[in-house]
Amino acid sequence: MPDIAPQPGVVEALGQIVGARYVIGPGHDQEPYTTDWRGRYHGRAEAVVKPADAEEVAAVVRFCAENGIAVVPQGGNTGMCGAATPSPSGRSVVLRLDRLNRIRWTSRLGDAIAVDAGCILADVQRAAEAVDRLFPLSLGAEGSCQVGGNLSTNAGGTAVLRYGTMRELCLGLEVVLPDGRLLDLMTALRKDSTGYDVKGMFVGAEGTLGIITGAVLKLFPRPRASAVAMAMAEEPEQVLDLLALARTRLGDRLSSFEVMSRRQVEVIAQHMPDVVIPFGLESGWYALVEISDTLAGDALPPMLEAVLGEALEAGLVGDAIVASSEAQAAGLWRIRHSVSESSKAHGYVVSHDSVVPLEKQAEFIRAVEAAIIAAEPSATVVMHGHVGDGNIHVLGILDPARFASAEALRARAAEISLAVDGVLAPLGGAISAEHGIGVSNRERLRRVANPIELELMRHFKAVLDPQGLMNPGKVLPDALPA
Ligand code: FAD
Repeated sequence: MPDIAPQPGVVEALGQIVGARYVIGPGHDQEPYTTDWRGRYHGRAEAVVKPADAEEVAAVVRFCAENGIAVVPQGGNTGMCGAATPSPSGRSVVLRLDRLNRIRWTSRLGDAIAVDAGCILADVQRAAEAVDRLFPLSLGAEGSCQVGGNLSTNAGGTAVLRYGTMRELCLGLEVVLPDGRLLDLMTALRKDSTGYDVKGMFVGAEGTLGIITGAVLKLFPRPRASAVAMAMAEEPEQVLDLLALARTRLGDRLSSFEVMSRRQVEVIAQHMPDVVIPFGLESGWYALVEISDTLAGDALPPMLEAVLGEALEAGLVGDAIVASSEAQAAGLWRIRHSVSESSKAHGYVVSHDSVVPLEKQAEFIRAVEAAIIAAEPSATVVMHGHVGDGNIHVLGILDPARFASAEALRARAAEISLAVDGVLAPLGGAISAEHGIGVSNRERLRRVANPIELELMRHFKAVLDPQGLMNPGKVLPDALPA
């Protein structure tokens, strides 16, 4: 990409707000902030700026609003849809939240924690543990993603079945609006029926309506005991019957029910040789089941064994392993947490963050695989997901060498997504359960969105961000990039 001359004075003015050492001007040092995690999108920025607190964020946003400069909020940059990457024009400012990393307070009585939006998820989990509580959001990128990014994508992860998504975990928010005003909604109230849910609008907005600078999040009693197992089943219907049985017998103790297709586990074994797969790859599906309880003791492993025994007798599962130590449990989770890295290593990933009603899940799985293969016979189709909440990630992985050009590859990827949506929509599913829309899914949103809902979204955007400067070109299908 040819260099673009920066606008005179922008880097200097931002330096006056946050300190010159916290502004990175155009050039190579910007690369980690201008490319997305998957390496799919490459942009440029007028500057990357790292304010220290909400007041500095507000001052940066005000300066940008007054000078017509677009702002791209960025947390850990682990998002899957290119939503945190600036456009190639080089005319926007990337606003990193890293320095907003304080735990503001914790309340054991109120089961709540107040944090800056730049706190890394794993640090929030640790801060909760320090007061003998659990912050339940858990996902593969938890060592680098930030609370602001988690809220802005309405992240889900592996414990949604029991604790809900980030939307359900959020009690209060602090947001810098596109005009630079600071909206303080940092309440820890569990019940609040005073008018519209304004705070809720910023959750899942992918930074298009404002910049989250702080949040009050729900905590839970910390489990004292847990048990983890992996069960193998031949057909998706059997996996779903196992889920129903586990819910019936174990109730709310069931905290995770994750699945991987055999092809997915094979891809992990191929690319991540240090991940130990402690079973043969004979079955079609692998379910990772975790149960937990606030009561200490040894009751859970036998409880899980009993349910799996019942499933075995009913012919639902072929075999199962119950972890006999914490290390073994961590090993089973490691397999599940390796899906993103290994799929990325396998080729060009055309990923779909599908969510389908559980009653239609098996039908979806079968039809979607056939649809992807029909669109591209050479695709490796892998699936994994948090099927307990209906969310199954369907990936068509392509070998770029088979395509004459990057355009041809992208065109085939779009055809695959079209095929997936063709199966998903009639079954009452949605195109994004937890990753968001960003850039990758804007066209798909145009295709499947409820037109009235889309119109309302455009209105909200126009009211809050009339200049269209807040993360332009993201989410809304016809929003123009900076
Ligand atoms: P970024 O990628 O930096 O940004 C994401 C979006 O949020 C962008 O639109 C950005 O502009 C906006 N944003 C960021 N911070 C703010 C802020 N303070 N205010 C306003 N807008 C902001 N996701 C899941 O939900 N479940 C999973 O199980 C899961 N597993 C993953 C596993 C791996 C290995 C990886 C790499 C990613 C995974 N993800 C998963 C995706 C990703 O981690 C989540 O989307 C995460 O919530 C993004 O957080 P982030 O801080 O990296 O946000």
